[in-house]
Amino acid sequence: MMGPIPYGRQSIDDEDVAAVVEALRSDWLTTGPRVAEFEAAIATTAGVSDAITTSNGTAALHVAYAAAGVGPIDEVVVPALTFVATAAAAAQLGATIVFADVEEDTGNIDPRAAAALVNDATRVVAAVDYAGHPSDADALKTLTSASGALLLEDAAHSIASTYRGRPVGSLADITTFSFFPTKNMTTAEGGAVVTDDPALAEAARRFRNHGLVRDRALQRRPEEGPWHQEVHSLGLNYRLPDVLCALGLSQLRRIVEFKTARARVFDRYMDGLADVEGLTLPARRPDTDPMWHLFPIRVQGGRRREVFDFLRANGVLVQVNYIPVYWHPYFEDLGYRRGMCPVAERYYAEEISLPMYASLGESDQLRVIDLVRRALE
Ligand SMILES: *Cc1c(COP(=O)(O)O)cnc(C)c1O
Repeated sequence: MMGPIPYGRQSIDDEDVAAVVEALRSDWLTTGPRVAEFEAAIATTAGVSDAITTSNGTAALHVAYAAAGVGPIDEVVVPALTFVATAAAAAQLGATIVFADVEEDTGNIDPRAAAALVNDATRVVAAVDYAGHPSDADALKTLTSASGALLLEDAAHSIASTYRGRPVGSLADITTFSFFPTKNMTTAEGGAVVTDDPALAEAARRFRNHGLVRDRALQRRPEEGPWHQEVHSLGLNYRLPDVLCALGLSQLRRIVEFKTARARVFDRYMDGLADVEGLTLPARRPDTDPMWHLFPIRVQGGRRREVFDFLRANGVLVQVNYIPVYWHPYFEDLGYRRGMCPVAERYYAEEISLPMYASLGESDQLRVIDLVRRALE
């Protein structure tokens, strides 16, 4: 098959379709039993007590920052090499974003860089598990525990990855997932917040649902009547409907299959590209078992654009992840300047994300490998 090869795509089977159809024919399209069922399954996968599903991964970040109490007087430390949402969701709450540089091998936030930025105003340190490789959560947790900040893990890439034998979701104070179609599993649009802290979970649930308080014991005027509900703090509607939770439940049953398939793709790239000069392949630290979301290669010698264009011209729809967040004009206009996080900028300047998804067939992948080799000959 010689059609274009995307950099990422969903894997939907007949059982996924049947699960969605069943939900569509049920009494509940949204706010029904599949939400709690999917949340329980996500909490189990993450190794924590609570999961709060959301309408997408960006909403999950907004919910998580709000639950952490982020507001206008706070600083939030965010790695420079991430999708803009990691920073924008905290900026929406009025926080000042402080960008930390990343580690050369993984592209994840550098705990030493973060340590230099943390102060009394720091409410949250955010870590992003770039490409699915877990951040150095223990080093970051030591830092945030000492300073009184919370550690938030943006695990949009890394559901089902493990770090020192522990699942992503159980490493930080609060963790967010995305279920966008290119991610490790999908609900079309969707996301989740997970935590082991009951107060954070309660705050997250409330923000996700307009801030509504329905527990009579907590209401100011419960005598109004059985219909009464109160808003004590502002929230939004970020709910994930039953129809999509049904898809999520079905996808989650296939998570081990997905991880195995992605590992196979990863290994094939490592074998097929190991001897190519001018290429840096992704690193894996010995104490981690990533669920690979991306396969990021780094092209040395200023040839990234040339290789990218060659692959695109040959039907390989590669991507670049990510433009350093503070290069976006919104942040530039706030006074952030290029050169601030040199490791992240160099990573960006060299990076190309090769096709990486569970259903990527061997012949398509061999074609990608052959084209990368030819591009660098
Ligand atoms: C995809 C992604 C998000 C946002 O998730 P959506 O579901 O697309 O809103 C946030 N952070 C990172 C690192 C992502 O890759």
